[in-house]
Amino acid sequence: MITFNKPYFSGKELDYIKEAIASKKLSGNGVFTQKCQDFFEDKYGFKKCLLTHSATAALDMIALLLEIQPGDEVIVPSFTFVSTANSFASRGAKIIFADSCSDHPNMDPGKVEALIGPKTKAIVLVHYAGVACDMPVFQEICRKHQLYLIEDAAHAIHSFYHEEALGGMGHFAAISFHETKNIIAGEGGLLVINDQNFVKRAEIIWEKGTNRTAFARHETQKYEWLDKGSSFLPSELTAAFLFAQLEQLDSIQMRRHFLWGFYAKRLKKLELMGKINLHSPAEYANHNAHLFYFTVVDPTQREPLLQFLEQKGIQALSHYLPLHLSPFHLQGHSKESLPHATNFAASIVRLPMYYELGQTELDFIAQSLEEFFNFG
Ligand SMILES: *Cc1c(COP(=O)(O)O)cnc(C)c1O
Repeated sequence: MITFNKPYFSGKELDYIKEAIASKKLSGNGVFTQKCQDFFEDKYGFKKCLLTHSATAALDMIALLLEIQPGDEVIVPSFTFVSTANSFASRGAKIIFADSCSDHPNMDPGKVEALIGPKTKAIVLVHYAGVACDMPVFQEICRKHQLYLIEDAAHAIHSFYHEEALGGMGHFAAISFHETKNIIAGEGGLLVINDQNFVKRAEIIWEKGTNRTAFARHETQKYEWLDKGSSFLPSELTAAFLFAQLEQLDSIQMRRHFLWGFYAKRLKKLELMGKINLHSPAEYANHNAHLFYFTVVDPTQREPLLQFLEQKGIQALSHYLPLHLSPFHLQGHSKESLPHATNFAASIVRLPMYYELGQTELDFIAQSLEEFFNFG
């Protein structure tokens, strides 16, 4: 069976976990946590980074930092993972769903301004497959309407808008190290704070509403309850694992780009035949080969295709169900029409993509696709 994903291991994970154990400092905000946070701040110029249990936890922290409450509205793409919306819905915000572009799953910048009203507080973008949204347009919209711009960069470690790192272009960002992402920690995430005004408070929310982080830096004699918050920091065991992965970022990225490039070149023929659409990234999007996906031109072919591949021993997958049609959202809201999000939900196919995927398997996957579409 060629699985959709296989976690990558650098081989150093256990060494670093043993180091953490030997140091007898296992709770959060230790040496490995600092190393991971420094990695992102130094490499990408992010103002402040805090390691979290997950990207979901980072989004929860953003909702707390922005004091999201009932009466607020937050604009979120419909075609995304549930956490993009749920972190804000859980604080009482009304979620206003935005449609995807006609030719790409990312949020359509041309349609978003019509969704902004007096209660709107923030726009949350998702860089689907690590492919940048049209950032300058969203930045300008947010400036004009005085909204916060949040990047759900869960897919988007080491992705860029031209030369500028994703995660550094909004006020806040969330990156994920879930087992299915490019760099993993089992479960893990990163909160990026690019607006200096929020740095101090983010540290407090991160540490259960206390100034324990400042205390650990010997900036205060004691630590005390100052604000809202929860336990958002992972243990040093998670950070140690993650650091072993970050050290191999370049080789992981090189391999993923090779795989992505193979698929893109080989499947071009099927696109030219009118069977599939490859949705090539815009020229400004220097992406990170997080996913290789295409859409079937005829959505009724998607299920038969997935089953055909399954029988061949290839695990290909669809992706998100549109959130604007989810049972939770429809409890309190009427059905909206977001045709592009709905269309991507009905037609996307994601192909196996992981470090160890070899040439034999790649050829077999491509041949199987060609066979399904009666080609080759
Ligand atoms: C994976 C993912 C998340 C959630 O990440 P976790 O680290 O699992 O919480 C959020 N948003 C998007 C777009 C994702 O793909």
